Amino acid sequence: MGASREAVVAPLDFYRPGHHVKTPRMRSPEYVQFSTAAAITLGLIPGSMHRTACTHCLNLLVTYPEGCRANCGYCGLARHREEARDYADRNFIRVDWPTARYDEIIARVRRGEDRGRFERMCISMITHPDSGRDTPELLRRWVQAVPRIPVSILSNPTTMKRGDLETLHAEGADIFTVALDAATPEIFERTRGGPVGGPHTWKKYWQAIEWAAEIFGTAKFGIHLIAGMGESEEEILRVVQRIRDLGGNNHMFAFFPEAGSMMEDRGPVPRDQWRRVQLARFLIDYAGGRIEDMRFNDAGRLVDFGLERTELEALVASGKPFQTSGCPGKSDEEVSACNRPYGDSSPGDIRSFPFALRAADVSVVRRQLAGESVGTLHEVPGD
Ligand code: SF4
Repeated sequence: MGASREAVVAPLDFYRPGHHVKTPRMRSPEYVQFSTAAAITLGLIPGSMHRTACTHCLNLLVTYPEGCRANCGYCGLARHREEARDYADRNFIRVDWPTARYDEIIARVRRGEDRGRFERMCISMITHPDSGRDTPELLRRWVQAVPRIPVSILSNPTTMKRGDLETLHAEGADIFTVALDAATPEIFERTRGGPVGGPHTWKKYWQAIEWAAEIFGTAKFGIHLIAGMGESEEEILRVVQRIRDLGGNNHMFAFFPEAGSMMEDRGPVPRDQWRRVQLARFLIDYAGGRIEDMRFNDAGRLVDFGLERTELEALVASGKPFQTSGCPGKSDEEVSACNRPYGDSSPGDIRSFPFALRAADVSVVRRQLAGESVGTLHEVPGD
């Protein structure tokens, strides 16, 4: 993250971790948190990120001083951290999430201060009793004020009923996504359920996915999945295929040990495993691949993608499978508007590329696929 930590060009009522004081009245729907990348794109924070001048998605997070009531083992917002740090100073995915008045953000986008760069807005819910009430309100205000930019909802199914999804659809949400995160019921339970004092259940999450498929329809729903929490490559790709068969898309994250989370001591997902899963996910989601055509060894490791070597090479050379996966923007449905810069890795060891890969990047990825221990921090011509 290369964002300057010095002067802040900000409106009144702007909170930035480590720079300002957050007050108890800073709560949704009047206030929202938003990603550092979005803050830079809007000119609220000076600076840029490694090889990334902007993001095409305005990622928002509902915010309450009491924080998230769940306790997921890998999450920086988890409840168990509340005594360690002020809630607003906890990280969502790796990077800081400043807070500002929602109306101020809308006004800035209406004035074109993003210079036309936002192609999508996303509201992330958290586990809080007011999140279900405030999310449709945030959506409504946005659709009225900025109808040209479609909205994704990153949901919290635990507190939702089918009627809540119908309301969000009727109010104009474009895509509905479920943060399933874990690839197996056992990992889900261990990291998000009873054993960590969390309220979430695998069954409820899949129920919400099925509602989303029915209500939002093909290509208008999806899931978040985190690779590297103990599942095999075969297990996570079976989930990918299941979602594809329902008509949805898979948005992948590499497991990153968030400082202060219960899983901070677990290592990140091995690079070769991650690259294989990224490539196979792209193959299934966008290139007609099927898990039945792939082969796995006894440990569930992918050993054959089920594709001609030349075709697989062409896919790797395109670099697209290794870019951040997420909700699309205006132009190319295979390239995510939501690029979440450095949300799952550092610039020195990029897991999800928030930009199009150059030839030098592709050659690093090839070496990683071959099992070489090499990061991505290298001089790229043209930087
Ligand atoms: S992929 Fe991005 S835009 Fe889509 S739901 Fe996830 S965070 Fe939101």
